[in-house]
Amino acid sequence: MNNFQFYNPVKIEFGKGAVDKLSSHIPAGSKVMVTYGGGSIKANGVYEAVLNALSGFSVVEFGGIEPNPSYETLIQAVDLARKEKVDFLLAVGGGSVVDGTKFIAAAIPFEGEPWDILVKRAEVKSAVALGAVLTLPATGSEMNAGAVISKRATKEKFAFGSPYTFPKFSILDPEYTYSLPKNQIANGTIDAFVHVMEQYMTYPAAGLVQDRWSEGLLQSLIELGPKALENPTDYDVRSNLMWAATMALNGIIVVGMPSDWATHMIGHELTALHGLAHGVTLAIILPAMLNEMFEEKKEKLAQYAERVWGITSGTTDEKARAAIVKTEEFFQSLGVPTHLKEYGIGDESFQTICNRFTERGWTGMGERRALTPERVLEVLKKSL
Ligand code: NAP
Ligand code: FE
Repeated sequence: MNNFQFYNPVKIEFGKGAVDKLSSHIPAGSKVMVTYGGGSIKANGVYEAVLNALSGFSVVEFGGIEPNPSYETLIQAVDLARKEKVDFLLAVGGGSVVDGTKFIAAAIPFEGEPWDILVKRAEVKSAVALGAVLTLPATGSEMNAGAVISKRATKEKFAFGSPYTFPKFSILDPEYTYSLPKNQIANGTIDAFVHVMEQYMTYPAAGLVQDRWSEGLLQSLIELGPKALENPTDYDVRSNLMWAATMALNGIIVVGMPSDWATHMIGHELTALHGLAHGVTLAIILPAMLNEMFEEKKEKLAQYAERVWGITSGTTDEKARAAIVKTEEFFQSLGVPTHLKEYGIGDESFQTICNRFTERGWTGMGERRALTPERVLEVLKKSL
């Protein structure tokens, strides 16, 4: 196990009616900017509950943050927040709203062009305080410091993170997830599943406790995803799914461990260039990635086969191959096709993706730094 420091300052307020506790988490006298997306929060009651809870505060609203939040939209929120001199940001929505709000928080006090935070990795030296009311279990953004932001003009998508962009708190009321369409539940389950895989599917026996945590989360997601689709108002299922997604990317399962993240990096390009939803890109790329990196990852794949899928017979290679098939079938069982051609996409952007990685110096991705742009091309071909 590697040396590590673990720090996660996000306070979680979880359960039915948790929004009522909102005002106790925001400093009295704050001017609060409530950020949200395309309107789902107005249809399921959470908007009303939030505004009621904020009745003692001065409130400014910024709506219209789109899925895969765009720099173009967020910069308008930055202008508004500066003009209104807001001192607290409250994101109400899914990962896109939470991510977008982290960027707004960092951009408000940033001197210079905020896009540099994403492209040039310019240092974030401060941020406006933020909190979240989460409505979609998927990204883990509610309990981490990362965010992923897109620029529509150039069809690019970049991640950033800073100790200043941890939410101060996140409110998770599973009842507000009842209104989610089936495809968002499926995409969210896959996103959380792949977050665990990016942090787990590296080396065998690297961290015994971390592996068992990851395997427990993977098994939970395999059990919960189909149940959440079947019965949208089962509180036990929705609460467990929501907590599993948070735990999948709050930093705990990866302490002292290497991580991969190459599936996400390729997935971000497919979203940026073709507009595919985040979870969809992961369902397409992960099986292809595991096949391309088979020799490197097969020992750990066999452990995953045994412990997560109960595949106990066969050689290491056979178990490892069977586990990849099971993984892909799981994504498909949630109603998410796992090949690019099923979305009408061919190889037209493959070279662009590889060129971008080369230009950025991303020439050895993954835990072993073994995924070269040439092998990225092989992953993409396998994903057709
Ligand atoms: P999302 O993009 O936030 O939301 C997807 C859709 O679901 C939106 O149309 C939204 O509608 C709707 N929605 C949200 N909550 C709803 C509810 N309770 N009922 C009905 N509809 C609801 O989805 P997401 O998967 O959470 O976030 C994806 C983004 O997060 C991507 O950009 C991805 O790259 C990023 N991401 C971030 C991290 C991280 O650690 N920060 C990790 C993985 C992925 P409205 O717009 O109307 O609200
Ligand atoms: Fe993700």
